[in-house]
Amino acid sequence: MELLIFLGPLALAIFFLTRRSPEARESDQIQEEVISYLDRLRERTDGRGSINAEEAQGLHAEIDRGTSIFLPICSAGCSHCCYQAVDIYPWEAKRIGEAFSALPPETQADIKSRADSWTRHYNSEYEKVYAERKEQYERTPFKIYRSFYGQTLDQFQRRDRIACPFLQDGFCSIYEARPAMCRLYFQFTDPFECEADPLRSPPFESKKLMSASFTLLDRRADLEPLIHGVHDELGLEVTMLGQGDDDPKYSFDEQKF
Ligand code: SF4
Ligand code: SF4
Repeated sequence: MELLIFLGPLALAIFFLTRRSPEARESDQIQEEVISYLDRLRERTDGRGSINAEEAQGLHAEIDRGTSIFLPICSAGCSHCCYQAVDIYPWEAKRIGEAFSALPPETQADIKSRADSWTRHYNSEYEKVYAERKEQYERTPFKIYRSFYGQTLDQFQRRDRIACPFLQDGFCSIYEARPAMCRLYFQFTDPFECEADPLRSPPFESKKLMSASFTLLDRRADLEPLIHGVHDELGLEVTMLGQGDDDPKYSFDEQKF
């Protein structure tokens, strides 16, 4: 009897100390889902050296399967988040180009015209950020690498809300072929919060999938800005400052501030 009196509270204490909260169990489940998603992604890409354009549809479908685990509220036609700049992998360009070519000529012309204004706006902001940072850099004893591209986009997007050139009448004109980045960015609550802040931070699940996917896919190819990445497919003559050798004045070395 005395033993029971002693063991009872001890067993209860062990139970309460070791039981997993619903949040922890949910987090374990998310972890498992992410691992299984990554395994599938790895199976599709491993041993091939690099991803080719023919892989794009399969990888996009796998990413959609990965994100659907979490039941986001996102849907075609909900577009407040399309005021962010999107990067793509080189293997996505061909698929996007094919989707673009299948659009009516007038839609294609609209997209090209918006892509042109988007790039001009970006370049003018880039020059301002570049001049500002260069001056700061020259006064700073410790030289820190900062991406002008990221800073420029953050600056003008937050202020000016420039839509992605592929957004046509509130819909993504290339929805089926949209980039991995757009597929991996999702939300669980009220789209009006995205309207209030188009650069709204995504939830943990979206960030987790993004970082895991990018870690896996980045080993094979570098991301680049959407418009820069598809300019050949769209037949656009684009010079995007800070991207590759588009303008030697803003070469990579010059960006190392
Ligand atoms: S992230 Fe926000 S704006 Fe974008 S599709 Fe989802 S709910 Fe809509
Ligand atoms: S590609 Fe489509 S989904 Fe992605 S930001 Fe542009 S319009 Fe939105």
